Amino acid sequence: MSRLAVVCGGSRGIGKAVSRLLAERGCRLAVVSRNEDAARSTVASLRGADHVALSCDVSKEQEVQKTFETIQNTCGNISYLVNAAGINRPLCVCVCLFRDALLLRTKPEDMLALLHTNLLGTMLTCRAALRSMLHTQGAAIVNIGSVVGLKGNAGQCVYSASKAGLEGFTRSLAKEVASRNVRVNLLAPGFIRTDMTAGLKEEDGLRSIPLGRFGVPEEVAQAVLFLLESSYITGQVLVVDGGLQLVM
Ligand code: NAP
Repeated sequence: MSRLAVVCGGSRGIGKAVSRLLAERGCRLAVVSRNEDAARSTVASLRGADHVALSCDVSKEQEVQKTFETIQNTCGNISYLVNAAGINRPLCVCVCLFRDALLLRTKPEDMLALLHTNLLGTMLTCRAALRSMLHTQGAAIVNIGSVVGLKGNAGQCVYSASKAGLEGFTRSLAKEVASRNVRVNLLAPGFIRTDMTAGLKEEDGLRSIPLGRFGVPEEVAQAVLFLLESSYITGQVLVVDGGLQLVM
């Protein structure tokens, strides 16, 4: 029987590439995002049948509970959970990507939106998925952090805090569930070409990234698959950034 993988934030960007790769490897996918049409169109593009699309805002506890109940009832026990739902700009109108997010200019409601989606959202989905994962052989979770959470970045205090929080959360949860043979790891990407980085110029990558370019979602997806399938790795942070953190 094929493994069931839930990808939160699976409709676009990194999560979509992860969904695609897992489907190619024979998993059954539950693709979760707020926009159900986008999740559906991703599901329609996946190899294989029986994949499902669900609309859910991961920052809302009741929606998360309901969504994972639906997944359990319609698809069965979860083998893999990938938390790729995230935001970095609660303000959509942003002239320079990071300047508008200097702490002194950040509104408390925007801080909450970031923390609720990026940090609380992952806690809620892990909590909702775990009951089912405890009954699955070889179950694994990959949370998506960021090099900015490991190194910090001016203009990204709140985003960085949300991603740094994921590191402590991931290591702690890995300890909590290791005895039940569930593994939990964090993947920390650098600059990856998705909607989230649409405002950044490729020249910035040439200058600041040792490998001289932005990454593509498929390169992150490969690393996610590696963590999901590596049966003796838990509580680790894997950086996928073209060497960026070496110079941060
Ligand atoms: P993206 O292209 O903007 O995709 C974000 C995904 O998350 C979409 O599927 C979006 O769908 C979903 N999402 C956002 N808020 C959500 C919510 N409240 N509930 C459910 N789903 C939600 O972003 P990405 O670049 O692929 O980023 C994926 C993850 O990698 C994020 O956690 C991001 O912080 C992290 N990351 C990205 C980069 C990068 O350079 N791209 C670097 C480091 C870390 P809806 O909008 O329909 O909900």
